[in-house]
Amino acid sequence: MDEIDVVIIGAGAVGLAVARRLSGPDRQVVVIERHARYGMETSSRNSEVIHAGFYYPAGTLKARLCVAGRRLLYDFCRRHGIFCRKTGKLVAACSEDETAKLEKLYEQGQANGVEGLRLLTRSDIGRMAPGVSAVAGLWSDETGIINSEDLMRFYWAQAQERGAIFLWNCEVKEIEPKSHGYRLHVQGNDEPIDAHIVINAAGLNADTIAQKAGINIDEAGYRLFWFKGEYFSLRKPLPIIPLIYPLPSKHGLGIHLTIDRQGRHRLGPNAFAIERAQTPSYDIDPSHREVFWKEARRYLPGLQFDELQPGTAGIRPKLSSDGSFRDFIITEESKRGLPGWVNLIGIESPGLTASPAIAEYVADCLKLLT
Ligand SMILES: Cc1cc2nc3c(=O)[nH]c(=O)nc-3n(C[C@H](O)[C@H](O)[C@H](O)COP(=O)(O)OP(=O)(O)OC[C@H]3O[C@@H](n4cnc5c(N)ncnc54)[C@H](O)[C@@H]3O)c2cc1C
Repeated sequence: MDEIDVVIIGAGAVGLAVARRLSGPDRQVVVIERHARYGMETSSRNSEVIHAGFYYPAGTLKARLCVAGRRLLYDFCRRHGIFCRKTGKLVAACSEDETAKLEKLYEQGQANGVEGLRLLTRSDIGRMAPGVSAVAGLWSDETGIINSEDLMRFYWAQAQERGAIFLWNCEVKEIEPKSHGYRLHVQGNDEPIDAHIVINAAGLNADTIAQKAGINIDEAGYRLFWFKGEYFSLRKPLPIIPLIYPLPSKHGLGIHLTIDRQGRHRLGPNAFAIERAQTPSYDIDPSHREVFWKEARRYLPGLQFDELQPGTAGIRPKLSSDGSFRDFIITEESKRGLPGWVNLIGIESPGLTASPAIAEYVADCLKLLT
């Protein structure tokens, strides 16, 4: 293979969105993915919520790319027939001392330019979400749901139409920076692959890939911590359409209630640290059912314990292990002596929502090179 213009490592929602954005007649794009197809890791193991953008401090990439990505996603869905639904969402304060936090979220949302937010009283909630118990709430019109498989199929099909090549069952093992570009040693491909520009969209392993490129990930603050999130699904649908969230917890958004395209409900995810592994376990610990039930009963008092059954799980690539806020890292690494190398690290939630805006941001980073 001759030198490739752009190689993208990883075919999750983010790598696919970037492949779609960068591919075209004047640029050869190759995506290297270690699994047999796209979206076998975090991008198919999440809540599939289109976030409005009020959880993140103003001015951060998470805030800006969530709001921009959400608008782009709704537009793609409308124009290309991808399933999505603006369900709306209620963040429920279950005790008086939580109401101040609701107001803070509301103000943060205003600062982030989030449309359709309003504070609700107990009686508003009774009308808008019967069966939900809360002393006050924050309502978001713009929150919705999407089918992540449909979205990834759309990115992948458009990237292919624009000439991108996908190498499945190929794992990047070693990286050699050259005088101009990079040589990637890839298990599953007979020859090494030379690339002018490399986009590291390797999700849970993005820090390892950055390390292989020669970055000291501890000095750079790039080391990832894995936090698992389990889901329990409900046996029977509830007469509730909006998504119901508690106030955010230390490591996540709290165990929330979501609905899918078929009207099925599920609760989750929880959040706990796990050891890194070559093949991580996505099993659900059935003993966690009790905690899920107790947490959800704070805002769904009628929920029966027997309704909950083990569902799926995903793993968050977090840049902080103590719950403190860390922003997405999306950066072209010329300043570290790696021109044309773009790292995307710590792309946890709202990475699915932000994916089209992340792709635009990466394209802007690369413009600086030319
Ligand atoms: C429990 C949970 C709930 C979430 N809920 C939401 C939500 O409701 N809304 C939202 O917006 N976001 C949500 N997110 C976040 C969202 O899922 C992620 O931000 C997004 O999927 C990240 O996509 P990605 O492409 O960066 O990573 P991934 O989907 O992990 O893709 C990375 C790819 O890189 C490949 N790869 C890794 N190493 C190599 C290598 N050496 N060689 C070749 N390929 C390699 C992997 O196989 C993988 O396919 C949630 C995340 C979790 C864990």
